[in-house]
Amino acid sequence: MKTYLVHGLARSGMACVEFLLKSGCLVYVLDSDLAKMGQASQKGAHIWENQDMSMLTAVIQSPGIPLTHPLVKQARDRQVRIMGDVDLFRETYPKAKIIGITGTNGKSTTTTLIGHILTECGVPVAVGGNVGVPALSLSPLPNDGVYVLELSSYQLDLSACLSLDYAVWMNITPDHLERHGSMEDYVYAKMKIFAGKGNPPQSMISIDDAYSLQVYDEMNEAHPGFLTPVSVNRPLLGGIFVLDDLLVDATGDERLVVGDLSGLDRLKGRHNYQNIAMAYGICRAYGLAPDAIMRGVETFPGLAHRQEVVRILGNVTFINDSKATNADATSHALSAFDTIYWIVGGVAKSDGIDELLPLLNRVKKAYLIGESATNFAKVLEGRVDYVSCGDMDTAITRAYADASLLGGTVLLSPACASFDQYRDFEHRGDVFRDCVQQLVVE
Ligand code: ADP
Repeated sequence: MKTYLVHGLARSGMACVEFLLKSGCLVYVLDSDLAKMGQASQKGAHIWENQDMSMLTAVIQSPGIPLTHPLVKQARDRQVRIMGDVDLFRETYPKAKIIGITGTNGKSTTTTLIGHILTECGVPVAVGGNVGVPALSLSPLPNDGVYVLELSSYQLDLSACLSLDYAVWMNITPDHLERHGSMEDYVYAKMKIFAGKGNPPQSMISIDDAYSLQVYDEMNEAHPGFLTPVSVNRPLLGGIFVLDDLLVDATGDERLVVGDLSGLDRLKGRHNYQNIAMAYGICRAYGLAPDAIMRGVETFPGLAHRQEVVRILGNVTFINDSKATNADATSHALSAFDTIYWIVGGVAKSDGIDELLPLLNRVKKAYLIGESATNFAKVLEGRVDYVSCGDMDTAITRAYADASLLGGTVLLSPACASFDQYRDFEHRGDVFRDCVQQLVVE
């Protein structure tokens, strides 16, 4: 009988437990949270109490638990396979068509956009992975269906041979280095998106940052013809690019101007041009017609917590960009608005907010929240007006009082993780939205 140890019972771990039990496997579980172990054992799993590892088919490791955990070492020493939920998904559905999306920023937007375009074009689609529903909880699709999976670097780090049909490589900037150790290891983990038994998947790869360009050069030399370059900075022969707001497909013999992206309210800004170009490219590789893809782009409803307009109160617009958990993501929000009253802070990333200094001329005042406040105050000192607010409620009240004098944008774009004050970025964005809804006109 196949026997698994599911290590870590967050959303994807619990989905694995349910899936494996349904498939008739013997399932052990381990998590530091006893309540979660209790939930899993009620479903029929057994508690792992250091039994003999040789009975295990594999350890299914939660992407959130570092690979330095002693259980991982123990499994490796005993030569027990360690895998993630996405490998299990691929092995369970070897013939399923899968599009995988990775990168530092833009994964969720692009994943959801691809799902939306395919759905609008009548293709049966299931969207999940690192965004929304874990892969193993997705409902099985008919043979002509497509699974669109967002893949984090943690998930890819655990995978060995995903054999995707299509891959999307968004961009790479420093992030999660506390887990991966170095940029090289971070890039290496993400490159597993191209791994398979034979050739790499048909892939779109953005080449606007130096790391991604290097990955493109390396992969293209080893496997010519499988990777299509994408840029929002310059024209490309044999690729897809955006120039003067126009999306251009130069993969064929002639340049095709696909559409004007400047009027898309739900996908504003250069970063979203990248997301659109990647989604266009992969849907085109799948076989959809350019005008059908553009109709899908135009009807995309947008995503919560990503530059989401939550309220317009008099002359003040409130924007929830809670998903901006690093400086690069926040740079796009700061570039997209003027007269900004900026709510920022939380658990800072290793590179802090230094890269945002050139954008501070767009900021009227900063409202510091979370544990990074003292450090960020030092960075902002003498450059822009700021005030330490501690919590979200105080920050919103003060920002609104200032903004309502002359009008402007109150922007939550924290450039930080949320774990000091919130469960996750969604919780942080929900608190922002709720506080804003309770405001009354000044
Ligand atoms: P991810 O899933 O990779 O975190 P999201 O689509 O959820 O990406 O967007 C996260 C944050 O990054 C948002 O604040 C958004 O404004 C910004 N962002 C979105 N797309 C891009 C991109 N292509 N490049 C850089 N930043 C982006």
